[in-house]
Amino acid sequence: MINRTRRLRKTEGIRRLVRENKLTVDDLIYPLFIEEGENIETEIVSMPGIKRFSLDKISKELDEVVELDIPAVLLFGIPTSKDDTGSETWNDNGIMQQAVRFIKKNYPSLYVITDVCFCEYTSHGHCGIIHDNDVENDATLVNLAKQVVSHAKAGVDMVAPSGMMDGMIQTIREALDNTGFPNLPIMSYAVKYSSAFYGPFRDAADSAPTFGDRRTYQMDPSNRDEGMREATFDDQEGADILMVKPALSYLDIIRDLKNNFDRPIACYNVSGEYAMIKAAAEKGWIDGERVMMESLLSMKRAGADIIITYFAKEVAKVLLKK
Ligand SMILES: [Zn+2]
Repeated sequence: MINRTRRLRKTEGIRRLVRENKLTVDDLIYPLFIEEGENIETEIVSMPGIKRFSLDKISKELDEVVELDIPAVLLFGIPTSKDDTGSETWNDNGIMQQAVRFIKKNYPSLYVITDVCFCEYTSHGHCGIIHDNDVENDATLVNLAKQVVSHAKAGVDMVAPSGMMDGMIQTIREALDNTGFPNLPIMSYAVKYSSAFYGPFRDAADSAPTFGDRRTYQMDPSNRDEGMREATFDDQEGADILMVKPALSYLDIIRDLKNNFDRPIACYNVSGEYAMIKAAAEKGWIDGERVMMESLLSMKRAGADIIITYFAKEVAKVLLKK
């Protein structure tokens, strides 16, 4: 007897009925780069369609996000002044804090998440305080606590620490609990690899390290079991959502987390993944829209509940057409 699996693929009607995974606008978080200053609307060359905005120029972008019903944005701040500790990150009037207040006031329905790290704010571009040419973990945790409390006071809805410091989730949870923010959730960049796919982001956020690389804190792309260890610690320390970054080359890790943790799983569809599709589509070598939809669907199928993506607006438009 032949097993005729093709029976359930015969028409669009039956394909719809048996479709296992769907991408919806509810899954999406749109990253935004907000630069301190005025009259800034700079296209990022390696990320066509994505811009850095100053706050006075960002309303059109936010109007569009709200109109497309994208539920959330993830903010990255680009300050005018940097120093060796990234002290602007805990300035209550810093660019990130201003951005949070501006968006929550003018777009109250939009869920605002802040990236919590130091690399856009340090003169050396690393994710914390430097000692002996490496990031000093525990000294960085002290500043991390100051940063999240400052974001919380500005009115952020969720914080997303991305620096891969040991103990960062416990530090942040305690800092928020002790300052009257026990209900503020944490989305941890729990399994973040030291990846070449971040290249275009560093142009966007002005955060390339001036010496060395991030391999003493971000994970080795060869490792899978270690991802489980990282996620286990963040789960125990109180992370509400666990993230895998990047997404497309790490679908196995997304599935590992989905199978092993009773928490929502997020993935970050990073700048290099975006740039590759954009570049190939521009050359006419692939159907950009279909490849975009297929790659994001693969993240859902792998187990992601939430996808952070520069494609969010385009995906929302495609979904509206259907
Ligand atoms: Zn960083």
